[in-house]
Amino acid sequence: MAAARRPLVAGNWKMNGLSASIAELDRIVAGYDAALQAKVDLLICPPATLIAAFAARASGSRVAIGAQDCHPKASGAHTGDLSAGMLRDAGASAIIVGHSERRADHGETDALVRAKAEAALRAGLTAIVCVGETRAEREAKRTLEVVAGQLSGSVPDAATPENVVVAYEPVWAIGTGLTPTVADVAEVHGTIRRELVKRLGSAAEGIRILYGGSVKPENATALLKAGDVDGALVGGASLKAQDFLGIAGAYR
Ligand code: PEP
Repeated sequence: MAAARRPLVAGNWKMNGLSASIAELDRIVAGYDAALQAKVDLLICPPATLIAAFAARASGSRVAIGAQDCHPKASGAHTGDLSAGMLRDAGASAIIVGHSERRADHGETDALVRAKAEAALRAGLTAIVCVGETRAEREAKRTLEVVAGQLSGSVPDAATPENVVVAYEPVWAIGTGLTPTVADVAEVHGTIRRELVKRLGSAAEGIRILYGGSVKPENATALLKAGDVDGALVGGASLKAQDFLGIAGAYR
């Protein structure tokens, strides 16, 4: 029997949000009622400038705060970068690593993503490791091979259900309004699960696998019901409390 996995809905605010945006966090905290808390974990990953303020504001609620990236090293001469320890110190409990926008904009390789994930683990944080194929790779029917390769290159050997979450985010679905079919999502998530178990053993049955890419309140119920989908990584729709809570509400 599959291990029980508690769903997670995580919001990636990307490069959006100013100090006034804390009002949106307040609305998320207020809407995360006991019934929803019983069913699903919530995480908001604002830009690094807002982590400390968001973490202070969310403290005492069950909304967790995360970061969107980290440097693989713990400290040193890396101007402009932030270490996992610094992000933890600011109040983050998780770090997204290997988002396709970072892989594309900053040339991040699987090896670098893995080093960042390992840095998150060393700091005692959860690494949310993103994988996903481009449109060209899907059209060439290479999705499963690409995702399996990214997984083996990016997920640390020390991954456990407590310290790693995998996010499957087809690049062509991010911010486009396009989504794979539920069957396609289930096929990729099933492959991710098999690859994780093959490499890490049966404990990997407990690792959460999120779907990300144009998740909205309208499509959340169908997408989140797909096999081996344990929640969502949400970009655009996480900026509005009503939409974010609407997506999490698929678990009510
Ligand atoms: C993301 O960037 O992680 C994402 C899933 O974006 P969106 O929901 O806007 O497609």
